[in-house]
Amino acid sequence: MTRRTAQQEPPTPGGVVAARLRAVTVFAYTVFAVGLLFLVLCAALQLTRVSWASWEMSKYYLLTVLLVIGEMRPLLVARHDGEADRITVSTIFSVALALIGPVTLVLLAQAIAVGLDDLRRRMPLRTLFNIGQYLVTLTITRLVFALSSGNPVMDPATSLDGGDVLPALLAAATFFLLNNGLVSVIVALETGQSAREIFREDIRVGGLTWLILLGLAPVAAVVAEFSLFMLPLMMLPVLGVQHNAWIAALRQHEALHDGLTGLPNRELLRIRAERAIAHAGETGQHVGVMLLDLDHFKEVNDTLGHHVGDGLLREVARRVTDALPAEVTVARLGGDEFAVLVPGADEMGTVGLLAERVADRLRESVHAEGVRIGVQASIGIAVFPQHATTMDTLLQRADIALYRAKTNRGEIQIYRPEIDQHTVLRLSLLGDLHQAVDNEEFEVLYQPQVEARTGRPVAVEALMRWRHPVHGVISPEVFIPLAENSGAIGAMSRTAVQAALTTLAMLRIGGHDVSMAVNISARLLSDLELPDWLRHQLIRFSIPSSRVTIEVTESTITADPKRAMQVLRELREIGVRLAVDDFGTGYSSLSYLRRLKPDELKVDKSFVLQMGVDENSEVIVRSTVDLGHGLGLSVVAEGVEDQETYDRLARLGCDLIQGFHVARPMTYPALQAWLDAAVKHRDPFSRRKGPQVPRARRAPAHRAPA
Ligand code: C2E
Ligand code: CA
Ligand code: CA
Repeated sequence: MTRRTAQQEPPTPGGVVAARLRAVTVFAYTVFAVGLLFLVLCAALQLTRVSWASWEMSKYYLLTVLLVIGEMRPLLVARHDGEADRITVSTIFSVALALIGPVTLVLLAQAIAVGLDDLRRRMPLRTLFNIGQYLVTLTITRLVFALSSGNPVMDPATSLDGGDVLPALLAAATFFLLNNGLVSVIVALETGQSAREIFREDIRVGGLTWLILLGLAPVAAVVAEFSLFMLPLMMLPVLGVQHNAWIAALRQHEALHDGLTGLPNRELLRIRAERAIAHAGETGQHVGVMLLDLDHFKEVNDTLGHHVGDGLLREVARRVTDALPAEVTVARLGGDEFAVLVPGADEMGTVGLLAERVADRLRESVHAEGVRIGVQASIGIAVFPQHATTMDTLLQRADIALYRAKTNRGEIQIYRPEIDQHTVLRLSLLGDLHQAVDNEEFEVLYQPQVEARTGRPVAVEALMRWRHPVHGVISPEVFIPLAENSGAIGAMSRTAVQAALTTLAMLRIGGHDVSMAVNISARLLSDLELPDWLRHQLIRFSIPSSRVTIEVTESTITADPKRAMQVLRELREIGVRLAVDDFGTGYSSLSYLRRLKPDELKVDKSFVLQMGVDENSEVIVRSTVDLGHGLGLSVVAEGVEDQETYDRLARLGCDLIQGFHVARPMTYPALQAWLDAAVKHRDPFSRRKGPQVPRARRAPAHRAPA
């Protein structure tokens, strides 16, 4: 008989769900009440009429025993969604007993068997319903048989003959329709699906099994009447049916699971995700999808062999599953890619917390096939309904977040629309990058730096732009990381440095003795030929090395610290200056500064921009200035956008000022004009239009310039 396996506990009440829960409760109690009424009626009519202790009864008792045994060994029939229907083989015996036995006996036996079995699973409402629906179904089955065959309704049937075949089949069909019909209705009430659909799916999944079990019921009835001792032989076809169902379930399992790790596969993940999304849509909860990718898995596989790789994947599967609550689905999508489905989270943050738990568990090194391996995973997250409302887009967005997480290895990234745009753009840009150098699409702009005290321009920073024929001007923050990963960075950086040196040479000819600051990427900084190349360029343009400042960030150096330090050492030997860019954003420690021995610190613009509003930023800026001066370095503040910040920085003793308030990055001709104007109008009180000219400051009384 059909009972759906325990899928989920009744879902958490939300508007719709609460209403459904009420409907399910009412329906279950109604069915139970009707069933109980039938039982009481039958018992009242039969208890005294049947001689319960006679030898005649033994065949009915034997059927009862087989019924109970069958009830304890249910068949699990696999549904296409990975859930399973329980079809109990006891159907053969209960229907047989319903045809020929005293109906009270089958009702009591079935009620007790179901009650015991279901109560173990602690779902009282389900148990009541299941008992009720068997009582109803079996009573009516008996009624249909008795009325259509002319057998007595209440007394045991005399003996079955050829004329009883059709009525028996009619009764079996009644049993099937009622049993599955009632179950479909309650599942429909619970899940909001259509009862007809559920019924159809039940037939599709279990139809054949049903046919065999119900067809065997009259046979069992005849055998029971023929010989008590032959009845146990009826267990043989039952074993056959059971075996078939087991094979089918195994196949279904294989179709929905990954062979290596035993985890659900993409298909099962999709089925569960769609169900979770539909449910969360009603309760207002969130559904999280994480995509997880192992860093360096390919290296492990290639160097240590596939069996180590397989062992690693199995161990990862185990850890991820262990780290997460039971209702979460962990699936393997293939290769070293795993997915995690968090159904029904009350808060979006829950998904992030679970991701951190997973990442923590994976950081402990893994023993696979006797080898100890350090693993680390990158995780991308997307959440319903914030980032997407369908499974497909959720997966896509999680994938975009993962892509972002992988660029920094071992990160957890939650999807944001910005990274999406970048990704689409990135791919098309990546293709255009190499040609861009040849097509001279790169351009260098220059942004002046002025002495805080006097407003005198003393340096310019070279900043690159990409004038893309289709996408317009592209920020270096987008294309430099791209170029870094593609190998285009070398040619590009050299072109930029050359352009900057050409500009500097021309400015010098025009009478402006300023310094030129150039940004050096990580890749270029680990190029051992850079110092020699730069020396040649300086000679070629007749530029004193002291007029060139190399700007590096901490992350530029940490990409390949050994080489970077060597290159930096050689650059200093040439005599170029060294500035630490974006100071304050990394882990910049004193010992690091001591080893690097820079000439200049550039306070990161994020602090400068926040100075007016955030006290901490002001403190950071002040201590950077003090630290720099303490080490004998000059301090530059970038990102100065207004006069007030300029004044504050000047008061703090900052040496150089760079920012939109002084001037935006501009082309070489514009810079030339700007510098000309600045020299002409270095009168501290002049305010003029045209190229914006820095307003010079009086020397602050408390500190002399470094
Ligand atoms: P960075 O070295 O920190 O450069 C300063 C950035 O701040 C520049 O952005 C500049 O336009 C911007 N900026 C200047 N003043 C202000 C201001 O008052 N307010 C605000 N909000 N921003 C200001 P840009 O030109 O987009 O450059 C971004 C980053 O790209 C640079 O940061 C640098 O790390 C990198 N970069 C630029 N040119 C090159 C290059 O030729 N080679 C390499 N390797 N990196 C470069
Ligand atoms: Ca810079
Ligand atoms: Ca900077």
